[in-house]
Amino acid sequence: METLHTEVLVIGSGFGAAAPALRLARSGFEVLMIEKGPEIVPARDFRQTQDPQYLLRYIKSVRGDNVNYIYAEGLGGGSGFYESVSLRAPTIAFDQRDGAGTLMWPGSLSRERMNPYYEIAERMMCVSQLDVHDIPRSGLAFARLMKRLGYSVDRVPYSVRGCVGHSFCVAGCTSGAKVTVHKPYLAPACRAGMRIITGLEARRVRILRHDEPADSRLIAEVPYRYEVQCYDAARGSSLEVKAKILILAGGTVGTARLLLNSRAALPALSGEVGKNISVNGTVKSLGILPEDSIEGDMFTGLSHPGLISYEFLSSRGITISTSKPLPVDAVSYANIVIEGERRIPSWWGEAKVDMMKLYRRRAIVLYALGLTNPTASLRLRRGGEVVPQFSMGDDFRAYYQQTLALLHSILRRGGARVAHIRIIDAQGVEYDDLHTTTAHMTGSCRMGEDPSRAVCDASGEVFHYKGMYVTDGSAIPSALAVNPYLTILANAERVGDLLKCTYHSGRSERGHAETVYERESGIVPGHRRNRLHRYIRRAGIAPPQSPGESPRKRTPAIRRQPDR
Ligand SMILES: Cc1cc2nc3c(=O)[nH]c(=O)nc-3n(C[C@H](O)[C@H](O)[C@H](O)COP(=O)(O)OP(=O)(O)OC[C@H]3O[C@@H](n4cnc5c(N)ncnc54)[C@H](O)[C@@H]3O)c2cc1C
Repeated sequence: METLHTEVLVIGSGFGAAAPALRLARSGFEVLMIEKGPEIVPARDFRQTQDPQYLLRYIKSVRGDNVNYIYAEGLGGGSGFYESVSLRAPTIAFDQRDGAGTLMWPGSLSRERMNPYYEIAERMMCVSQLDVHDIPRSGLAFARLMKRLGYSVDRVPYSVRGCVGHSFCVAGCTSGAKVTVHKPYLAPACRAGMRIITGLEARRVRILRHDEPADSRLIAEVPYRYEVQCYDAARGSSLEVKAKILILAGGTVGTARLLLNSRAALPALSGEVGKNISVNGTVKSLGILPEDSIEGDMFTGLSHPGLISYEFLSSRGITISTSKPLPVDAVSYANIVIEGERRIPSWWGEAKVDMMKLYRRRAIVLYALGLTNPTASLRLRRGGEVVPQFSMGDDFRAYYQQTLALLHSILRRGGARVAHIRIIDAQGVEYDDLHTTTAHMTGSCRMGEDPSRAVCDASGEVFHYKGMYVTDGSAIPSALAVNPYLTILANAERVGDLLKCTYHSGRSERGHAETVYERESGIVPGHRRNRLHRYIRRAGIAPPQSPGESPRKRTPAIRRQPDR
């Protein structure tokens, strides 16, 4: 079997992988990135289609009894297929406590501490607030509905440049307007020497026993610590990679699957691997707008309708947005019953035809994201696959019913009719219990203060495994009440920044290699290592601060995004 050696191995290529890969490649480290999914060159490979065969090549899901997780596999991870909604998590998300009163996030992390990294992430992804003129019709309908009831809405920041409104963001942007990690992260990382292998899945991680100098920071002095067994399904061939620093960024599902499969070779792993997954309090409802409302094709414009309401964030811990209704061909298979419709609900027939006519021009979807407890998990099945489980306690059920009732009430008070959808499973059997589908799952290998509750520490380093870091959605320890990618990317930037301070390549830096710590504290690069290590040891992961040496005030990149 072929064996490769690299200083840094990054597993995955989405938001969580891209930031540390770029920062380390630019700092002169030898970086290898492996991606399980196929190579994607956005301009060449994306198509404007709802063809399931095309979509299912990249969009994957794992299904459990009452929860489904949806994610993308391909170079760039979810960034190729996301809707560009770029929101900072509100302060209260970082302040959440669990049932025992313990902070979910490590004590040293707060929205304030994350702000410098959010700024970097926003700059890298070209995030700016949607222009009023670009709000799609479905967004305007939502704004009008909320305004009738006296509720505020805000325009959403997006990572797009020059969007022409194809409305196929989720199939991959064919015009190049949507910013994915390819251009700002992967391309410059490759220019700085990073190698990428696609179609290669990391299957197992093994620790290599060695004697390591106590404080080896120069990467040349660090021994190869981990061996990763990889498999190329297309070729049917295996490969081993030995790495000094291992960055796990396969996503909430992928990283948990890899670590669960590696447990025998990593016996000191926390028992929390695969647990504490948040579904981001996702609750959806469908309505049919009244006749006097905005009418027209609800499918034009950006995929996401561009507006969010923070009206219920402080009172209920939720945000409310609207998403576009699913395409007509997808919904034609669903059984939708509109309130007040006296005809017998059916999967077909006259009532169904009339409903589908209304659907394209007047359907509106409201969805809430909320600060629910992370009580879902992933269990390893025979054969190495994982299956999601969600113990919906009374808390979640009450949250779900109350939130759904609020969404229904907004629709009804706004003059819309609520449409009830009977959801069926893959066998065509209707679900008889609550069922949640989300692409916002986080936390299967969460950060925390100690291994009895978490998998990695606040620096992303896996407890008991030096040099192994988690930098993707699996490290995020709570629900966020907003779409998660910007927080995942900001956190990955933070860990990448820390890694640059912790290790030294001994090679010249390629491009901008200044760390946030340096910027915040005015430390000059020549003296960086000693001073930064002192700071990091003293202040945990916090940016250096001492009385009278507070970080410079900076103007937030996006002014209108409220922090509640
Ligand atoms: C359709 C859709 C729309 C979305 N829209 C938004 C949005 O508008 N805003 C927002 O904030 N969020 C959105 N999300 C969620 C967002 O995309 C995810 O939260 C984000 O991509 C997670 O980033 P990540 O780095 O944790 O993992 P991912 O982006 O999922 O990347 C993980 C990568 O690792 C690879 N991988 C996994 N295991 C292995 C392995 N063993 N070996 C090698 N490679 C591996 C996977 O193939 C994948 O490419 C959306 C998600 C979907 C599916």
